[in-house]
Amino acid sequence: MKTAYDFFQTYLAENIADSDVLQRMQNVIAEFSARAPKMIVMKCIDGRVHGSAAKGYPPTTVVFGRTDGNKVSLDRSNFWYWNRIDRVVKNAYFNTPQTPAVFIAFMHHSKSGLGCASHQSNDVEAYKSIEMQMTEVRKQYSDAELFVLGGDTETDTMAEALIFSDGTRLDSAEIISYCNLVKPADVFHKAFVSQKIDDIATCRNINHQTPLALLEGENPRFFANLDVCLNMQNYLLRTITTLIRKERTELYRIVRPDVLDLIFDTIREQKIPVNLLGPIVYQTVWNIAYSLYHTTLLKSLSEEQRTALLDHAEELACYGDGFETLPRNKSVLVKTGRGNDMEALHVARKVLEKNRVRYHQDHKLLVHINVEVNGQMMEWEDFNDNVGSRILTMLRNVGSVFGDDVAILTSYSYRNEKRFYPVKISREDSRLVYPVDVIAPVNSISKFSNMLLKAEEALYRMEFFKESR
Ligand SMILES: [Zn+2]
Repeated sequence: MKTAYDFFQTYLAENIADSDVLQRMQNVIAEFSARAPKMIVMKCIDGRVHGSAAKGYPPTTVVFGRTDGNKVSLDRSNFWYWNRIDRVVKNAYFNTPQTPAVFIAFMHHSKSGLGCASHQSNDVEAYKSIEMQMTEVRKQYSDAELFVLGGDTETDTMAEALIFSDGTRLDSAEIISYCNLVKPADVFHKAFVSQKIDDIATCRNINHQTPLALLEGENPRFFANLDVCLNMQNYLLRTITTLIRKERTELYRIVRPDVLDLIFDTIREQKIPVNLLGPIVYQTVWNIAYSLYHTTLLKSLSEEQRTALLDHAEELACYGDGFETLPRNKSVLVKTGRGNDMEALHVARKVLEKNRVRYHQDHKLLVHINVEVNGQMMEWEDFNDNVGSRILTMLRNVGSVFGDDVAILTSYSYRNEKRFYPVKISREDSRLVYPVDVIAPVNSISKFSNMLLKAEEALYRMEFFKESR
């Protein structure tokens, strides 16, 4: 029998492993970030559209807003919504001058009939939600500040379409069908995938393999191995953005010519800010490969496995921020700041209860509350204001939707680290099933110091390290 504790133990071990890769690869991610536009993506809470992997953006490089069906109040008084966009716009203004930030509001649909639950699989209604956001956001910012796009994910294959202001769609699924692409390697030029990478650092980091070798198999390392994936993302973004500025004929030796021609042809009439052209081409090429990987994977699966991939299969609800390293379809994601967290929590609960009919769980429903911290916590008040009290407020919301019949993990993480540090802000709460409390030894003004907190965090990580050896 698997208990809620067992679940969280495995879940946190996976998180430690992923966050360790992120830490080791922070130079690669920083390099990617320097060339990519600052990006904000608004999405549904559906676990199948989780994360930025389908776009080719490493965890930590995209800011997400998530609401059920992407329904949101666009009133100026919805502070969280507008502030989230303002943060990205100002980040771009000061850190990537001359490259506007990018805003994409994504809907999702499914050819196998498993569309957006929040819109009862009605694609027209799902589109209205993102159209309203695009219209209102375009009113607030100039194209030079924030380039506003719509998006549409086909959750069966993870093919994405970017939707421009005149309705033009740059659609991976259409390109795949028009160019007859079958395998992930097909989107690239044959000469590129069959040779070793020309950049020595990338080549070393991917163990001197050719892209073709990394793209082969049902679970190609190109996507499945975070190390390899981050290095290839960085290399391809750099190569594509450089060649678009310098020598486009060279670009035709990386990406298959008919694919590139179709991309350029589709967006010819669009007024895309010059520094965004490369990133948009990169994102499309990556998504085509990613979607072909999903299509190939689906073909190799049993009926039951295929259903698990196509339909909802989330195991827990995650409430808060910082869940980017979780795999797709692992959790229903509820963000604060829609103005109505309860409604999203209710949807999350319904999805989990429905999933448990098909995928039995021995334990209570699972909720993970995480608060993301920017910078360091120097004083106890930093912890209390930014983490402790916020967890309490969120815990109250979870309680009112889930009652006592729930197993909860509460934690905080740093924005660039994505490592969950479990904390307990009320020790007598029996719903908090995970025993570790990183803050416990220093949780008061008289005991707290940043150095001691760092030591506790390191100890927590070491425990997992010892166990896995
Ligand atoms: Zn949805």
